[in-house]
Amino acid sequence: MPNIDLHSHSTISDGVLSPSRLLAHAASRGVNVLALTDHDDVAGLNEASQSAQQENIILIRGVEISVTWHSRTLHILGLGINPEHPPLAEGLKNIRDGRLDRARAIAAQLDKFGIRGSFEGANAQAGESRLIGRTHFARFLASQGYAKDVKSVFKKYLVKGKPGHVSHVWTSLNEAVDWIRGSGGQAVIAHPARYKLGHNLLEQLLCEFCELGGAGLEVVSSSHTPGETQQFAELAARMELYASCGSDYHGPGESYFDLGRLPALPPVCTPIWNEWNIPGISELSQPS
Ligand code: AMP
Ligand code: MN
Ligand code: MN
Ligand code: MN
Repeated sequence: MPNIDLHSHSTISDGVLSPSRLLAHAASRGVNVLALTDHDDVAGLNEASQSAQQENIILIRGVEISVTWHSRTLHILGLGINPEHPPLAEGLKNIRDGRLDRARAIAAQLDKFGIRGSFEGANAQAGESRLIGRTHFARFLASQGYAKDVKSVFKKYLVKGKPGHVSHVWTSLNEAVDWIRGSGGQAVIAHPARYKLGHNLLEQLLCEFCELGGAGLEVVSSSHTPGETQQFAELAARMELYASCGSDYHGPGESYFDLGRLPALPPVCTPIWNEWNIPGISELSQPS
């Protein structure tokens, strides 16, 4: 049975492990096929692909693009992308620049709330990463004792209605899907249950996504309950979308599922890797 995980993060975005340590960890968990899908950046893919060869893992070149759709933030995964495709590379650079402005705004809000130095603190947490995200703020605030852990910091400070929340406009769904498809990749809606879209909005999203040429839905995800997994499996089948599975691994202690510990896709699904022409993948049978 192959072990396939198509959603993970490294230190290039808000993961804890460098690309090579991520691949080593994946190997230690028996992963055969791994997609590195850093937020809004592809800079980890070279290192990841070198380590993948050493670890005998098939690396899927990926990215997780931040999108604004109907005033909501959605995450769109690109799988099998060419990271050098200029519209993709330029588009991601613009998103990262926008993240810097947002980070300054988050820090200014926290400052007003009496929390000083969070921009510098979050930057220090981001280390050599070329982007700054809320997770870096969360790790800084947790390290300063503002809450007991990263999850609690999000709840207390960084989500809508809390002092450090700043609304932000990312790229459009249309552009994200275009960049991904233009680079030869497949677009997948990440953790769809997380958006809490009502029935109508969800239908609208899926119709638009299909019209734009989107390929799949992430059915198995750390963010999904077993009931949601089944619901999105059936939805993917009805919309003739491929199904994907990913742990959304961010590092030890920060993710619900460890790498390589995902439940199988429900039988109604058509796995997105079914038609991938990857050397070696055909020898791996599908999960049952
Ligand atoms: P950003 O793209 O900078 O807004 O940050 C989004 C990232 O923050 C997600 O990919 C998760 O890694 C993390 N995140 C979002 N919400 C939560 C939460 N409630 N608890 C822990 N981490 C979260
Ligand atoms: Mn993240
Ligand atoms: Mn996400
Ligand atoms: Mn993710």
